[in-house]
Amino acid sequence: MPAIDGLPTLAQVIRTHDLVAKKQLGQNFLLDLNLTAKIARSAGDLTQCDVLEVGPGPGGLTRGLLAEGARRVLAVEKDGRCLPALAEIAAAYPGRLEVVNADALSLDVSAHLTAPVRVVANLPYNIGTELLVRWLSPDTWPPFWQSLTLMFQKEVAQRIVAKPGDKAYGRLALLAQWRTDPRIVLTLPPEAFSPAPKVHSAVVHLARLEAPRFAADGAMLSRITAMAFNQRRKMLRSSLKGMGPDIETRLLAVGIAPTARAEEISLESFCALSRQFT
Ligand code: SAM
Repeated sequence: MPAIDGLPTLAQVIRTHDLVAKKQLGQNFLLDLNLTAKIARSAGDLTQCDVLEVGPGPGGLTRGLLAEGARRVLAVEKDGRCLPALAEIAAAYPGRLEVVNADALSLDVSAHLTAPVRVVANLPYNIGTELLVRWLSPDTWPPFWQSLTLMFQKEVAQRIVAKPGDKAYGRLALLAQWRTDPRIVLTLPPEAFSPAPKVHSAVVHLARLEAPRFAADGAMLSRITAMAFNQRRKMLRSSLKGMGPDIETRLLAVGIAPTARAEEISLESFCALSRQFT
């Protein structure tokens, strides 16, 4: 069946351009254009937005974003082999797709984008968490983006949305939930990808909050949660000993039992504790 944009199917694109997937680049391609359109729709209204896509590969999600009306797409791809396929998409959507052949970890994208910006990507698993942490930890808030709609391994997605008491609750949940509203919008089985990865995947949509949910200094919050979760089985009075001799008093001052463990403590309480030190 011909695709909606008149371009060849993704299976044909991969064959024509000999895009044999490379494991070291985290290449697991989506071949179903209905699915990529669904992911694009889960990012919200794109018509007034520039979209940053990291790792377009053969362009399945890129085509979804453009077909769903993205004002412009900036696609950053490390693998030069994908450029001819992406050039065909750019030709089908004149003036709306810019492709940059670069490593997303070292490119300053700000020069290429005009607000409002949404980030949508089927991320390479090996750099997904690193990019997320960077996007969540800019020097100033609000950041350059309005929302992040990102594919992760399901286990990582669960860490982003986890609540106190969940097995997956930890620093990533706290970082994400401090300044965004994250939710899992789609889960996908391995067979949705080519080649199929070993694990399930999930798309997480993180809508930014204009201000942090609770007041706190980001560096202090990060320091305290790192200490607390590095020894998550220990009681806080012991794991946070490095914060000073009066840690028990400070925990009690914000209503946290010194015998509690990190995994029971809410974001609000961690923020209150971090304010004790600033
Ligand atoms: N978006 C495509 C899709 O959904 O079918 C491909 C997704 S695949 C999981 C990840 C893509 O990221 C690959 O095309 C890979 O070459 C690219 N990639 C890997 N590391 C990268 C990096 N550091 N910077 C930019 N792109 C990268």
